[in-house]
Amino acid sequence: MNPTTTTRRGFVTATAALGLSLKYGCSSETPEQRPAQIYRGWEDLMRNKWTWDRVVRGSRGINCTGHCAFNLYVRNGIVWREEQQGEYGASGDDVPDYGPRGCQKGLRQAKQMYGKQRVLYPMKRVGERAEGQWQRISWDQALTEIADKFIDYAVTDGPTSISYAMGTAMILKRAVFGGLFRFGNITGCEIPETFAGVGDLPVGAFMTLGHPLPGDNMAAVYKSKCCLVWVCNPAATRIPDAHFFWEARYNGTDVVVISPDFNPSAMHASKWVNLKPGTDAALAMAMVQTIIADGTIDWEYVREQTDLPFLVRLDNQKFLRASDLDDAGQEDGFYFWDADKQAPVLAPGTGFKPAFGPAAEEPKESLLLGDFEPALEGQWTVASKDGDVAVTTVYELVKQNAQNYTPENVAEITGVNPSVTRNIARSFAGSGAGMIFAGYRVNKWLHGDLILRAWLLMCALTGDTGRAGGGVQTTNLPRADGLNKYAFDGLGPRLRVAALAVWDYAKSDNQQLNAAIYGDEIADHIDSHYREAIERRWMPDYSKKPWNMAIMAGHNPVSWRASGERWRETALSKVKTLVAITPDMSATAMHSDYVLPAAHHYEIQDMTMEGRTPYVHVLNAAVEPLGDSKPDWFIQKELLEKISQLAVERSIGPIQDSMFGQPIERDYTQAGELFTLNGKFKEPRDVVEFLF
Ligand code: SF4
Repeated sequence: MNPTTTTRRGFVTATAALGLSLKYGCSSETPEQRPAQIYRGWEDLMRNKWTWDRVVRGSRGINCTGHCAFNLYVRNGIVWREEQQGEYGASGDDVPDYGPRGCQKGLRQAKQMYGKQRVLYPMKRVGERAEGQWQRISWDQALTEIADKFIDYAVTDGPTSISYAMGTAMILKRAVFGGLFRFGNITGCEIPETFAGVGDLPVGAFMTLGHPLPGDNMAAVYKSKCCLVWVCNPAATRIPDAHFFWEARYNGTDVVVISPDFNPSAMHASKWVNLKPGTDAALAMAMVQTIIADGTIDWEYVREQTDLPFLVRLDNQKFLRASDLDDAGQEDGFYFWDADKQAPVLAPGTGFKPAFGPAAEEPKESLLLGDFEPALEGQWTVASKDGDVAVTTVYELVKQNAQNYTPENVAEITGVNPSVTRNIARSFAGSGAGMIFAGYRVNKWLHGDLILRAWLLMCALTGDTGRAGGGVQTTNLPRADGLNKYAFDGLGPRLRVAALAVWDYAKSDNQQLNAAIYGDEIADHIDSHYREAIERRWMPDYSKKPWNMAIMAGHNPVSWRASGERWRETALSKVKTLVAITPDMSATAMHSDYVLPAAHHYEIQDMTMEGRTPYVHVLNAAVEPLGDSKPDWFIQKELLEKISQLAVERSIGPIQDSMFGQPIERDYTQAGELFTLNGKFKEPRDVVEFLF
């Protein structure tokens, strides 16, 4: 074809874009209706190429914390170009702004949307699972068959025999995420959480802080004076936020990348420490030893804000508790040593039961010590109810333990020269704002908790936890109060979120898997803790109910479950009905019985929020959903409406259930109306407005 002689219509007709527009287009003016245009030369071709019908603001509905705004250029009903936007402001006068944002992956989203892997129609499996034999069916047939089975399973084995997983591609989209919670609140099905599922749960932070998500917003990096970039590579994996690290260097920050490989972040750092793989905890403990040996400790912070002054019994290495001294004493009452009185005194903020529910307006207890200085070093004798016991402090034990981790001892493990270890520890402790910026990867490692605990110990000694520009930074969550109001409105909280690690342990053969990998001793040890947690009712016993139906949305567990094929064979293959709600023909969809096509995030109305960037983004529907695909929220709504219709036709009475030991009833005949609050919510946009 010669583009200098063909008409515009003739040229465009020959393009793949037109093929798509004829098939999926939503523009009111088709190319055939437009006036023919003669191309005079290559310049006109270029000019015509850079035209569009409209520009729509969009962002990402995937599991990316980048959270970048894009302009979407729509022509002939096709998103043909994406352009990152740079209007981001700063979160304070003392930090740079959040722009520019975007990455190479973001600029490929439209390609993904029009890829061959898109699911365009509801499909039902006709061959064996994963064989790839499908029958195209209507939405009505798909929803009727799934709703029928949903009711069957809820009636025979209870709603907890059904799971509807929250995928990571769903949780950032607030309307559909809220819709999932409302769906679960109405039906009583289990919603396996997603954090532990992908190995992102910071277990070490939970153990140390009682909270899994230490983290400020990304601009806090700029306020750091010594930032250890550890077990992460932001130049490659946090592309729109990486500029904060390099801008911080111009602000005088010592940016130290600690990683075995000379990665893209190391290239831009002040220093690169190439420790041996898997030796991070040892290096962190050598820094702890240096900080203690140098005495560069924030003593006031340590005494007031940490448990380092708490007394520990030397006979059993456990905290001295009020219940050790007196039968009437609280189990969570802990002690300091008062050097003046030569006696233990109850530590403030311990030894009382906090009231359940929202925080009181005025805190009942304070950690403030006033003039009192609890002892940190020493050994004493305390009269317990069972006789005298020797006690010391947590700090004393930490100090003794750290002596095993001198930089010289640890150099054999890490391969890091002792002078390098000391220099970095001294830069960190002397900076006044020491930060350890850590990726999620540490949480995926066996014993990753030890690394997190060593980092948090560094920050506890230097007083950096909670300080602007300091502390361990992993992630943060956006506010969710509107989300809960939407999920619970008119019903109250009747929602089940299942702990995924415990769920998988109950449903698959994790004990045998542990034995095969780690040996019987560790497998039995883990199993005994699991059994104790079940017997003491710290965790629900998911093994009591069969797993009849799994609705899998916004994720691809067949691909990412760590135990892979074994999980499929020992757990998923036993589930009677598998439903994938997905835009793409994923591995999970391949193993499912029904595949329901979900719309792409350029085809829906929603908004995204993320804890590390201080703004919300709208998702505007730039184009109509491809094929018969629908936004997830409408799939939730229509499935519940079908459940209601069938429950009425089948005269299904209230489903008997119980929450927190109390019997409750779930009326499936009202499920559809409950979801929309009697028609108040007609589309995801209504939910977005409610959340605002
Ligand atoms: S970093 Fe931004 S552009 Fe890249 S995938 Fe994430 S949200 Fe999209």
